[in-house]
Amino acid sequence: MNLYTYQTKLTMPILLFVFFLGNIDWGQCQESLAKERIISAFTGRVPQEWGESVGGIKTRLNTDQKVLALTFDACVGPRSLSYDAKLIQYLEAEKIPATLFISGRWVDANPEIFKKLSGNPLLEIENHGLNHKPCSTIGRSVYGIKGTKSVGEIYDEIELNALKILNLTDRKPKYYRPGTAYSDEICVEIANALGVEVVNFSVRGDAGATYSKKQVKEALWNAPPSSIILMHMNHPESETAEGVIEAIPELKKRGFRFVKLSEYGLR
Ligand SMILES: [Zn+2]
Repeated sequence: MNLYTYQTKLTMPILLFVFFLGNIDWGQCQESLAKERIISAFTGRVPQEWGESVGGIKTRLNTDQKVLALTFDACVGPRSLSYDAKLIQYLEAEKIPATLFISGRWVDANPEIFKKLSGNPLLEIENHGLNHKPCSTIGRSVYGIKGTKSVGEIYDEIELNALKILNLTDRKPKYYRPGTAYSDEICVEIANALGVEVVNFSVRGDAGATYSKKQVKEALWNAPPSSIILMHMNHPESETAEGVIEAIPELKKRGFRFVKLSEYGLR
């Protein structure tokens, strides 16, 4: 074998190896390792609780000050990938901070609106699940909506939406609210292991965007200090915006201030 042939024989495998390394998606590789770690830590655990306020879920701001957290969900449903522009325009005009829990499906359906919302420092973007599934380790359902069926599915529901939001906003959500707000306590532990807190609510502000303007207003007026109020931003046909618009001036007169969840932390 002459030197030229020898070099060629050696160079080709090295070039192929370098080409192979260059084509590995290292981010995806790390993510699948993280998923395996979560699956092996939690698979086989049997959940004891199921509902909106299972062990470990946060429902209040961690303060006794006269503050309220308005939270608006962008869910997924047959008629519910829309956007309540009137509601958000009011918050922007009045400079009212709020926290938005956004599902992955809603992001996909409203890319331009999502971009605009995430660029607004008044608004905090948080995680409402990739496919808006109730967060179950064993496939439980609620309101006819099928929940996740395994630890791996819970990982995808939480983490794939977190990564979607991270890619679009350069910020990874700190908080997760399950689709329908239902979960078991293992889901909460999995979320915590992924570095996020699970947040539901202490006041039902619009009951799935079904309340009348008057009911929304009364729910807000009756909210005690440090409440986390759950409402919706994906039902422009509802009376949620009207109720909020009527409630806020009176709440301000009573000395209430509105804050994002991250301002005080949660309990
Ligand atoms: Zn929802």
